[in-house]
Amino acid sequence: MADTKTKYNIDLDDYTLDPPQQEDLDQLLKVCRDSLEEVDEQMIARAFKLCYISHKDVDRASGEPFYYHPVSVAKIVASEINIDDVSVVASLLHDTVEDTGVTLEDIEEKFGDTVSHLIDGVTKITGVFKSRNTKQAETFMKMLLSMAEDIRVVLIKFADRLHNMRTIQHLPREKQMEKATETMELYAPLAHRFGLFNIKSELEDLCFKVIDPNSYKFIARKLREKKEAREAFIEEFMDPIQDELDEQGFTFEMKGRPKHIYSIFRKMQRQQKPFEEIYDLFAIRIILEEPHTKEDCWRVYSIITDWYTPIPKRFRDFISVPKANGYQSLHTTVITKKGRKVEVQIRTRHMDDIAEKGVAAHWKYKEGKGSGSETLDKFVHWVRDILDNPRPDAATEFVKDFQLNLYQDEIYVFTPDGELRTLPQGATPIDFAFDIHSEIGERAIAAKINGKMAPLRQKLDIGDQVEIITGNKINLNPDWINDVVTHKAKSRIRQFIKQKERQTADEGREIWEKRAKRGNVEISDQDLTKVAQKLNFDSTQDLFYDIGKGTFDVNKLFKAVKQYTSKGRIEEDQEEEEKTAPATEEEIQETYINAARSVSDEKALIINGELTNVKYNYANCCNPIPGDDVMGFISRTGDVKIHRSNCKNIHHLIQTDGERIVDVSWAKNIDSQFLGAVKVIGEDRVGMINDITDVLSKSLETNMKSINVNSDSGMFEGILTVYVEDIDHLDRIIAKLQKVDGVKSVYRYE
Ligand code: MN
Repeated sequence: MADTKTKYNIDLDDYTLDPPQQEDLDQLLKVCRDSLEEVDEQMIARAFKLCYISHKDVDRASGEPFYYHPVSVAKIVASEINIDDVSVVASLLHDTVEDTGVTLEDIEEKFGDTVSHLIDGVTKITGVFKSRNTKQAETFMKMLLSMAEDIRVVLIKFADRLHNMRTIQHLPREKQMEKATETMELYAPLAHRFGLFNIKSELEDLCFKVIDPNSYKFIARKLREKKEAREAFIEEFMDPIQDELDEQGFTFEMKGRPKHIYSIFRKMQRQQKPFEEIYDLFAIRIILEEPHTKEDCWRVYSIITDWYTPIPKRFRDFISVPKANGYQSLHTTVITKKGRKVEVQIRTRHMDDIAEKGVAAHWKYKEGKGSGSETLDKFVHWVRDILDNPRPDAATEFVKDFQLNLYQDEIYVFTPDGELRTLPQGATPIDFAFDIHSEIGERAIAAKINGKMAPLRQKLDIGDQVEIITGNKINLNPDWINDVVTHKAKSRIRQFIKQKERQTADEGREIWEKRAKRGNVEISDQDLTKVAQKLNFDSTQDLFYDIGKGTFDVNKLFKAVKQYTSKGRIEEDQEEEEKTAPATEEEIQETYINAARSVSDEKALIINGELTNVKYNYANCCNPIPGDDVMGFISRTGDVKIHRSNCKNIHHLIQTDGERIVDVSWAKNIDSQFLGAVKVIGEDRVGMINDITDVLSKSLETNMKSINVNSDSGMFEGILTVYVEDIDHLDRIIAKLQKVDGVKSVYRYE
C-alpha cells in the first residue's frame, strides 16, 4: 500500500548519518554500554536515526538542534537512572508523537509494542500536565495511575523534566517560574516518594535557583567558603576509623554526605536557625562494597561506637524496619572528643543504590519487574488507598495533604496486637484511629500510649504502642483538624465540619423565616442574595450560618430587607448604571500587559511611579523590598500586585492564572520606604532592647514600626519591623545588630 506510507516510512538500517550525528550516536552507545547490562545497539541506533530525522530543522530555545534534548534524556535514563535499553529507545522518541508527524503506529511497527506503550504513556502525562490550569489534583492522579501500569513511563518523564530544568536558563523568566513551581510542587515530591533521592535533590536545587535566586546564591557562597574546613574535619574524624576498618579487611567508600542547597534552606526555615547551625551538623556515610552484608553494617557500627560516644536517642535501625520507599540504613549520632556531633550512616552498596535511586534501583536489581516486588506492591497499594476517596470539591486540599504526606518522614507505631503501622511524622492518636478504621476515628474519646492514658492530640513517637478507647456514639471534634496530618483523617474531619456548618445554616434559615413571617416581610431568594451581599456576605448560606451560630443578629437582616424592599432596589439600580461595564479578562490582560510591556525595559515592568502608568502595589503576604527578586500579578481590577518570587501565594497564582503573571524588576532609584522584619535571638540581659533600638535609631537612622519581644529561660527573642529603603539597607541593619553584645543570631524574618 505505497500510498499510505508517510515520510517516516524509510528503512532506518539503511539510513546513513552525517559524521557529527554519527559521533553523537557513538557517544550515546558508549554511555549505554558503560551503564546497562544488556544493550541492543542496533535498536538504539535505529531509534536515534528516527529521532534525528523527525526533529530535523527544529531548534530549542538555547539555539541547539532539538534532537540534543531527547538524546540527553536518553543518556540520563541510561547513566543516572540505569533503567534499560528499551527505555533508552523510548526516551529518544519521547517527543516525536507529540511534536512531529511520527505516529504511535509507526513506532509500534518499527520498535514493538513495549516501546510504543511507553511513549504513549509519556505523551499522555505531558498532555495532562499542559492542560493543568484547573485540575492539578486530577492530573496528579492520572500520573500515578499510569505509573502503576509501567513504572518506566514515570522514570522517563523525570529524566525529561530533569533535562528541561538543567537547561531552563534559556527560557524567558515567566516560563522559568512556571516550570520551576510546577516541578517543585509535583515532580519533586513524587520523585521523593519513588525514592529517587538524587533526582529529587537536583530538581529542588534547580527550582530553588529560579524561585529564590538570592537565597540560593547566599547558601552556595557559604558552602564554597566552608569547603576546606569541612574536608579537614571529616578527615580527622575518619582517620582512626579508616585504619580500623582497613585492618579488619573491609572494602568500603566513605562520603561526607553532600548537603543540597535547598535542603539546607528548608532546615534553616523549619528550625528557624542561621546557616552555620544547620551546616555544622555533619553527616558521614560509610558504604560497604559487595559482598558485605547487613551483619557487616553492625560490625562497623560497633567499631565506630568503640571510638566515639553514641547518643542513644539518635539511633535508628532502618535495616530491620525499612522506610516505605524501601530506604535501608543504620543511623547513629556520635560525639567527638571535642564535643562535636556527627551523624553516621552505615549501609551496603545495594542499600545505597536504593537510597539514591529508589524504584529505579529495584528495577536494576531485577526486583521491579512484574508484580513480584514487595516494595512496588506496597507503593501501588498506597496510591490506590489515596485514590479511593477522591472528592470532587477537594482538588487543592488533596494536593496539599498529599504533598504533606509525601515529604514527611515516617514513624512506625504498633497496635495493641503488635501489628506495625506506618504513619507520617507528627501523627497523633487521632490519625492512628482513622488509619485503623474511620468509625474508630469518629468514636475515639481517649488513647492509651504504651499502656498509659494520653490525650488524643499528643504526637506519637517511633515505636509507640497505641490503643484507642471508643465510645458508642460519634465524638468527632471539629478542632481535631489542627491535630491531624494524614489525608484520611483530614478529609473525614473536614466532611464533618461541612455537615455541621450546613446544619447551623439550616437553623439560621429557620430563625430568619420565623422573623420574616412575624414582621410580615416577603422577599425572593434572588433579592435576599443581594441583601446578603450588601451586608458583606458571599452568599445567603454564609449569612444563615452566622445567624445560626448567633454571631449575626437576625433583626439586622430584617431591617436591611425592609429597606431593600421599599427603596433599596432603586438605589441599587442607579449604582449599577454608574459603574462601567466590567472588562473581560482578555481585555484586562491585553490592556495591562501591553501597557506594562510598552514602558518596560525590553521585557520587564520597572517599578517606579514616574516611569509607568500602570498602577501597582505591593503584596502584604511577602512584603517585597527593592533588591528582592520579584514577579507581578495582574489583578482583576488591572493593578499589578508585586510579590517576591519565593512567595507561596505567587506560586499558586502561577499555577492557576499563569497568563496574568508579568515579569517585573526594580528601578534604580525608588524614593520610598518599605517594611522589613528581622528576628534577633540572643541572651536576655539588662538593656538588650535599649541597645538594639539605639543601633537602629542612632547609627542607622532607621525608623522602627514595632518590636515584639519574647524572653524565656535566659534567652531573648525579638521581632523588629522596620522601615527600609532596600535590601542593602536591611542587610546593613542585620550586620550591625549581629555585633550587639549578647546577640547570637539575626536574620530576615518572613
Ligand atoms: Mn521532552
